[in-house]
Amino acid sequence: SSDRVFNFAAGPATLPENVLQKAQADLVNWRGSGMSVMEMSHRGKEFLSIIQKAESDLRTLLNISEDYAVLFLQGGATTQFAAIPLNICTPDDAVDYIVTGSWGDKAYKEAAKYCKPNVIWSGKSEKYTKIPNFDSLEQNPDAKYLHICANETIHGVEFKDYPTPRNEKTILVADMSSNFCSKPVDVSKFGIIYAGAQKNVGPSGVTIVIIRKDLIGNAQKSTPVMLDYKIHAENNSLYNTPPCYGIYMCGLVFEDLLDQGGLAEVEKKNKKKAEILYDAIDSSNGFYRCPVEKSVRSLMNVPFTLAKPELEAEFVKTAAGEKMVQLKGHRSVGGMRASIYNAMPLAGVEKLVAFMKDFQAKHG
Ligand code: PMP
Repeated sequence: SSDRVFNFAAGPATLPENVLQKAQADLVNWRGSGMSVMEMSHRGKEFLSIIQKAESDLRTLLNISEDYAVLFLQGGATTQFAAIPLNICTPDDAVDYIVTGSWGDKAYKEAAKYCKPNVIWSGKSEKYTKIPNFDSLEQNPDAKYLHICANETIHGVEFKDYPTPRNEKTILVADMSSNFCSKPVDVSKFGIIYAGAQKNVGPSGVTIVIIRKDLIGNAQKSTPVMLDYKIHAENNSLYNTPPCYGIYMCGLVFEDLLDQGGLAEVEKKNKKKAEILYDAIDSSNGFYRCPVEKSVRSLMNVPFTLAKPELEAEFVKTAAGEKMVQLKGHRSVGGMRASIYNAMPLAGVEKLVAFMKDFQAKHG
């Protein structure tokens, strides 16, 4: 509606307006149950139908086979930085990390508390603007897993395909927090995929873990019960009280993505949006600049700077005055960042591009 802004925030992020309206219609009385989803027992038949539908729709979207468990957890992707080594490794096991931005770096540092991680490639010296060539990676053949961050939310660097672990016993693990459900993914290439919901698929408070079932059941003895995948898998994510309302919202988003025709269609829209924004940056004769190598630019998070950094504050402020908010870059890198997740309409990106041209005409 006309009083909503275009919200370019990195997460929590914009949600589809039709999903919010459905939630509003259901808020006080969900489908004649006489109560809100927030008030339901997580073990009652109403909520069970909600979580089961959410899981089954997600399985359809990503074509997830029965060899994988789908878990709806809490604690954010950050909790998974620890849960993964705790569930997959002994304290002495080696694992490999490819670090293409600050989230991969955080994941690596957390893992160092629970196993023996090694950074086999880091983009830090090039300010996290690249993805390595996979052939040149020196993978440890004994590594239990190879960890990547599929899309670096702050730096705007996205894997377009995925490395293959050198040893077939090594699993590929991916943090997909900021590009989850933005395109089709061959889940069978991964041992574990995990994602916080609050960028592409729902509100914060839900973390989704997709894990190959044979990897479950080997957690370190000291693993807190809340981090043990076996406990959650055996209890269908209902060992304790799950984030019920958030799971319900994710379910509505999954329905919406299916209604749009699934992830191949969603990817087409995301490509179109990203293309017009990167084009605007690249055709600005250096007025705007995106530091990321072209072939690995994120379709979700578009960081850019101004040749005249003194204009950045004005850019952000003037855009906000025109109902385009949250364009300031992450505090660690500065500049601007437009996050254009699934729920950002093409009209929002078109408006931003028109604004950028206008701003350049005034200040160029
Ligand atoms: N990984 C990535 C790629 C992220 O973007 C974020 C959050 N911005 C996190 C992990 C951390 O997620 P959370 O805040 O849900 O713990």
